[in-house]
Amino acid sequence: MAEVSLKGVKKSFGRVDVIKGVDIHINDGEFVVFVGPSGCGKSTLLRMIAGLEDITEGTLEIGGRVVNQLQPKQRGVAMVFQNYAIFPHMTVRENIAFGLTIAGATKQEKQQKVAEAARILQMEHLLDRRPSQLSGGQRQRVAIGRAITRKPAVFLFDEPLSNLDAALRMDMRMEIGRLRRQLGTTMIYVTHDQVEAMTLADRIVVLKDGQVMQIGAPMELYHEPANRFVAGFLGAPS
Ligand code: ADP
Ligand code: MG
Repeated sequence: MAEVSLKGVKKSFGRVDVIKGVDIHINDGEFVVFVGPSGCGKSTLLRMIAGLEDITEGTLEIGGRVVNQLQPKQRGVAMVFQNYAIFPHMTVRENIAFGLTIAGATKQEKQQKVAEAARILQMEHLLDRRPSQLSGGQRQRVAIGRAITRKPAVFLFDEPLSNLDAALRMDMRMEIGRLRRQLGTTMIYVTHDQVEAMTLADRIVVLKDGQVMQIGAPMELYHEPANRFVAGFLGAPS
């Protein structure tokens, strides 16, 4: 497990400032949700934490060490994307093992880790299927399974449920809550869905135009929004 600290983090694409000086401290084992309207910089922040995007200015610490210059693989993070990147020609087993295959894991190691991920996600009976034989929710579980096998210190989720229909989203939300309780790993979860944020988060970070509007527990934001934007986004109806 690991804590994650962003200190004065900025990101510019060319002349456009997309993240405008963000300070966020995430505790060990905490489930933090980044929420905000489309285009506010949620994915960019997550991609910087993952190491998929350079940090223009500021410091990022994971587990107490500065990781600004570290490659994604060296950061101890695993990311689950919105468009679950699973391969249609591979079985569930091969898909889950994919990251391990690249890392040069032994067959035995792969078997053991895939079995463990499948058990956690209750997918043991699906290991020999191909993605075309799975539901949307099951496919997203394969993507999560792949992340689990890497035993990350921090899980990053970028709108993992946004391609699923409402009923399935609710199931998967519970699934992610369960995963979180089982693993106890630090998780950072991006969504534009208020319900997802309110039900999953220990704390919510509300973003607007590349800036933090407020950080707090769901009920805190609901009852004591810092400004009209937060109130409009998450607050109690007045
Ligand atoms: P969100 O995930 O909250 O919808 P993003 O982080 O994807 O927002 O994008 C934030 C802003 O940064 C948007 O205005 C987007 O157009 C811009 N942006 C994201 N990636 C790039 C890029 N590679 N080049 C230029 N602009 C980008
Ligand atoms: Mg996004």
